[in-house]
Amino acid sequence: MATQHSEIAHLPLTALSEDERLFRDSVYEFAGREVRPHVREMDEHAKIGRPLIDKLFDLGVMGIEIPESYGGSAASFFHSILAIEALSRVDPSIGVLVDVQNTLVVNALLRWGSDDIKRRYLPRLASKAIGAYALSEAGSGSDAFAMATRASEAGDGFSITGRKLWITNGNEADIFIVFANVNPGAGYRGITAFLVERGFAGFTVGKKEDKLGIRASSTCELLLEDCHVPRANVLGEVGKGYKTAIETLNEGRIGIGAQMIGLTQGALDHAIAYTKERKQFGKPIAEFQAVRHQLARAAADLEAARLLVYNAARLRDAQQPFLTEAAMCKLFSSEIAERVTSLAVNLFGGNGFVKEYPVEKLFRDAKIGQIYEGTSNLQLETIAKQIIG
Ligand SMILES: Cc1cc2nc3c(=O)[nH]c(=O)nc-3n(C[C@H](O)[C@H](O)[C@H](O)COP(=O)(O)OP(=O)(O)OC[C@H]3O[C@@H](n4cnc5c(N)ncnc54)[C@H](O)[C@@H]3O)c2cc1C
Repeated sequence: MATQHSEIAHLPLTALSEDERLFRDSVYEFAGREVRPHVREMDEHAKIGRPLIDKLFDLGVMGIEIPESYGGSAASFFHSILAIEALSRVDPSIGVLVDVQNTLVVNALLRWGSDDIKRRYLPRLASKAIGAYALSEAGSGSDAFAMATRASEAGDGFSITGRKLWITNGNEADIFIVFANVNPGAGYRGITAFLVERGFAGFTVGKKEDKLGIRASSTCELLLEDCHVPRANVLGEVGKGYKTAIETLNEGRIGIGAQMIGLTQGALDHAIAYTKERKQFGKPIAEFQAVRHQLARAAADLEAARLLVYNAARLRDAQQPFLTEAAMCKLFSSEIAERVTSLAVNLFGGNGFVKEYPVEKLFRDAKIGQIYEGTSNLQLETIAKQIIG
């Protein structure tokens, strides 16, 4: 599955290798067959069933970059982006489940994990274990490094106490990357990443949020009370967790960009099909120029967003700097996702406003793109820092 970057270096941004195309098509075909029939029910019940999660593991999308020696698919970051986009076209909740697993959790372990951590956790993450990434707290969202969760040396490891909020996959996850400060006096230089397992004493998953969108994706509070974590479960170095967080979130943002272009494509697919079918004034509404032009603009917006997302992902795989591009792709794709899903609701008329049709859900799902993994204001700040200083 490995991508030959040298072969694609001079090709158009949206050109896919044969292997990438087959991979994307097979994930989209899976989404149509296994996800689409359950989308409405999962949204209503705010739950993803374990049988579907098992099928995602069987499909090989839960450990996309994990080497084959650990049971993974040994593919590229770009493959993760294609998978997230293809799944989000059908259900952005499934998209974000796969996104967090690959672009945050697996990514952090591959980059920062010791050989021992890789040996113990990567085979599990590739085959059955879901991961979660716990940085945010009630008092520290955008200002993530102001976290109040503390870790102190205790015996052969650390004892962690604190409360994390808004943690995606919290309900299903077995393995949590938890950020805590071991030396608050040193500010962000005390932040350390730990691998915490669901069964560790002193660790509990708390309340699950009742949300506007991506309702099937769980978002939970985590409670840590003198939770003992062995020293071998420090991910990376003590005091270097801020680096782990910054670097993984830069990549994670490209994943959110992929989620946003996937759901935008889904909304556009529905809008085109519906407007060709629905007749008013004696003809399909897609024949009115005003409607045609709205759809054309939506397609142009989506194409621009996709180019930003793919370019950021290709830069990452080519080991080129991608910080600004990642911020731009998340900023722009989440804005057009809101705009295009809103248009889709308008074009469905009254049917756009009811749950029997698919677009009101995508409209609700789009909103999160401007909030998590750094709000739009924070993306603008990142871009401004790069271009202005
Ligand atoms: C569904 C969902 C899933 C999530 N999943 C995860 C997860 O898996 N792991 C995790 O760690 N977190 C997760 N989060 C948390 C998410 O990353 C934060 O909600 C987000 O970073 C914003 O933080 P906040 O909610 O505290 O908002 P605040 O930081 O309080 O921001 C409120 C407003 O103030 C603005 N603002 C803040 N600071 C500035 C500034 N300096 N300049 C200009 N404007 C500013 C923001 O742009 C925003 O509009 C999730 C959140 C949600 C809703």
